Amino acid sequence: MEIVLTLDYELYFGEQTGTVSESIIEATNKLLAVLDCFGVKAVFFVDVGFVKRLEYFKEDHSKLEEDYMMVKSQIESLSQEGHDIQLHIHPHWEDSMYREGKWHINAQRYRLDDWPQKKVNEIVTGYANYLKKFAIKNEVFAYRAGGWCIQPFDKIGKALRKNNIWLDSTVFKGGYNETKTHYFDFRNAPQESTWNFETDPLAIDSEGSFLEIPISSYKVSPAFFWKLAFTKITKKRKHNTLGDGVPLAASKTWIIKKLLFPSYSVASMDGYKASLLQRIFRNKQRDNSDGFFVVIGHPKALSEYSLAELRKFIEQASSVHKFRTFSNLLEEGKITAAQ
Ligand SMILES: [Zn+2]
Repeated sequence: MEIVLTLDYELYFGEQTGTVSESIIEATNKLLAVLDCFGVKAVFFVDVGFVKRLEYFKEDHSKLEEDYMMVKSQIESLSQEGHDIQLHIHPHWEDSMYREGKWHINAQRYRLDDWPQKKVNEIVTGYANYLKKFAIKNEVFAYRAGGWCIQPFDKIGKALRKNNIWLDSTVFKGGYNETKTHYFDFRNAPQESTWNFETDPLAIDSEGSFLEIPISSYKVSPAFFWKLAFTKITKKRKHNTLGDGVPLAASKTWIIKKLLFPSYSVASMDGYKASLLQRIFRNKQRDNSDGFFVVIGHPKALSEYSLAELRKFIEQASSVHKFRTFSNLLEEGKITAAQ
């Protein structure tokens, strides 16, 4: 199997966004300490809206100059080391401000689809070009929607097509969420480990100009979420997140559902979810032994515990399987740009 480790490279979007130094830079360095032991390269989906906003506000807030330089130099050095730098979009940065020494997040227009087509084009083109201005070695051709909100795809697809972005890695089989800010419904996603599509990321279209490489997922029992909740209550050091911010609050109904009914979870290297990595991988191998296994993570949400689990997973898997970036897969002809 081809294993792709993917990271959404971003701050938090709650009341406290966390600091760039802890939630992004140091957290990423700790992850690299693990990956480097095995020579494994990952895909970093950069939250470009944030970096652009950082550059905008640093003119009036000199403290942000340092944050901007740290992020820019880390992105460039990740690329120099062979990691993939790709596009992640959280459009609510357009509405968010930096005032009195902190970021004020306005998540009212959290999904790209919340914006008119003209603005969606402006955001996607602006962000893709912005990312290309950094000294990065790979082509920018892959996308992951912020908060998994890729539906409806019409407006987003038009803008991605204009920018030659043809690979998406947002969908995870079974995923579903509908709140004030979020919407996605992947309950009818195909079983395949990759497919082409045109207007709907869930509808296979062999002639379609987009390639979906979904994030791997797994059905988990409520017991898992009780254990996860327990790790948060007991506050053991090894379970503390490396990042120092607070996520956008999840809805109460969402939490209750997870604690009462089985649900689908992404294959993730974040926090306690990393404990499932090996099990999800074994499961996936049984279904489709020559497919892709895509793992998601966020530097901010890693913990000592999750990095130890990730290390075990890589140790086990790397004897037989290959860890690849999307650019590697393209170079090796394992995936091809759809027409
Ligand atoms: Zn994100």
